[in-house]
Amino acid sequence: MKRKTIALIAHDRKKADMVAFATQNRKKLEKFNLIGTGTTAKLVKEKTGLKVKAYHSGPYGGDVEIAALVVKGKCDVVIFLHDPLEPHPHDPDIKTLMRVCDVYNVPLATNLSTAEIIINAISEMDFD
Ligand code: PGA
Repeated sequence: MKRKTIALIAHDRKKADMVAFATQNRKKLEKFNLIGTGTTAKLVKEKTGLKVKAYHSGPYGGDVEIAALVVKGKCDVVIFLHDPLEPHPHDPDIKTLMRVCDVYNVPLATNLSTAEIIINAISEMDFD
């Protein structure tokens, strides 16, 4: 059985939430292949010990790299704790990622509550 891939992305003011989420759900997350944008991946790895493959930092193209993986069927879930109260220079990249998740019907959590629901649901699923 091929491991499913989860992408972890958090904007700066949401990084503490992402670390808390990853810490609380460590046991569930370790069953997946984890990837993330540069700073988020590094932080989650450092704080939890989980193996997370780092792509570029979001503002430097990381969201676009993850969007490309979604398009290619190589990313199965996206947990993207985005900050709705701050402008972002890479807003077009963020929209691209969110858009391709909808185009390819890939589960996308943009806040902690949805992230919890998704991780609990996929942990119960039997993939074959
Ligand atoms: P970062 O990127 O994990 O490298 O901070 C996240 C983002 O800004 O999209």
